[in-house]
Amino acid sequence: MAAEKESGGTFSPRQTCEHFLEEAFDRLETVDEVRNLLRAPYRETRFELPLNRDDGSVSVFYGYRVQHEHSCGPFKGGLRFHPDVDMDHFVALAQLMTWKTAVLNLPFGGAKGGVNCDPRQLSSRERETLTKRYVERVAMIIGPDRDILAPDMGTGPQEMAWIVDAYALQAGFEPGVVTGKPLALGGSPGRLAATGRGVALVAGWAAEAAGIRLDGATVALQGFGNVGSHTARFLADQGAKVVAVVDVEGGKYSAAGLDIEGMVKAVQDQPGGAVPDLAVEGETISSEELFALEVDLLIPAAIGGVIHRGNADRVKARMVVEAANLPVTSEADQMLRERGVVVVPDVLANAGGVTVSYLEWVQNRQRYQWTEDRVNRELTDRLQHAWREVRERSEASDISYRLAAYQLGLERTIEAIELRGF
Ligand code: NAD
Repeated sequence: MAAEKESGGTFSPRQTCEHFLEEAFDRLETVDEVRNLLRAPYRETRFELPLNRDDGSVSVFYGYRVQHEHSCGPFKGGLRFHPDVDMDHFVALAQLMTWKTAVLNLPFGGAKGGVNCDPRQLSSRERETLTKRYVERVAMIIGPDRDILAPDMGTGPQEMAWIVDAYALQAGFEPGVVTGKPLALGGSPGRLAATGRGVALVAGWAAEAAGIRLDGATVALQGFGNVGSHTARFLADQGAKVVAVVDVEGGKYSAAGLDIEGMVKAVQDQPGGAVPDLAVEGETISSEELFALEVDLLIPAAIGGVIHRGNADRVKARMVVEAANLPVTSEADQMLRERGVVVVPDVLANAGGVTVSYLEWVQNRQRYQWTEDRVNRELTDRLQHAWREVRERSEASDISYRLAAYQLGLERTIEAIELRGF
């Protein structure tokens, strides 16, 4: 996707990802052949998805699946329904998944896919047809040992359930082809909240390392969907004061702290409910105003490229925690670093989701459902281990958390490629 941002230039997820990758390559001794293998995806697929609309018309959407790397295990990555996606977008997000699974030491590679539709403009029947048709098109290249799908922006447990059904027609009942499913179809306790739980955990450890006490820390959050709302709830539970929340429709601000419990409940009661319409006290605020707030933690949990060279110098937060994928452009990353703003990178901050997806896949293989306590304990242990490794590398080499995470992810992936041979 190449969207023009307010005085921030054009945002290219692919260029952003490539920039971070090249920075990490520069510090590692990697032979050119391996670098070239890792720069490009293993497979890029794009296909037409015609849809008979409820009103009798036909819309033609495009479906995508990009598989980046699979030396450590099957490809793994989410399914995004959003009008502004294209191949470059998925190439970047698939690569990001490779580093994320490697940073967490999960036996997966990286992939990403989706459809260029606006799910809010589709009826439930239309979304079901589109999701099942998508699976028909990619059935040959997905599966529990090939490529495992998951929710991302614009998709959730219901779409994952439709994927189980469509895949079963091709290969028999194989719930491990997708994670983030409803519990009744082999989903994992704790998966729905896992990404937000992970963001809050990592934010807490990073805040402590930076001398910020989470209890009483102020937080501004962009995005109040699955990731944003759960992040807000877990941070508020730990005593943080969430002063501002913005979604695609607008936002709310309260210096005294917003009623997060009330907002989460309102959104659960009315799925898709917009933040400005929620019946909680607060002044109106825009995303750009939110980014400039003097807070301890700024958490972008919506789309990519929102903190860019046009607004990075207005960021007054002490720490930016990337709950979304690629929310900070490479130029903004540099600007924040120079001003001493700590950035906790997406490949670590939002990795709680894929970690519990892994645990769900393990449970599917065992045909045995764990308790939520067990899932949450495993999630915390694995994330904490990864956080410690990233922090140690960052301190030992005097590099950013992002560069440290990329290096760790690259080293593990390269070792697997070299051991297998190519
Ligand atoms: P979602 O569809 O549930 O919610 C998206 C939220 O972002 C909504 O509140 C929406 O209103 C808001 N939003 C969209 N465009 C916006 C804009 N222009 N300005 C302000 N707000 C905007 O999606 P999600 O699953 O919560 O995913 C959010 C981000 O987290 C994405 O970048 C996704 O890739 C990443 N992520 C998600 C998961 C997961 O498990 N769902 C895991 C890892 C990373």
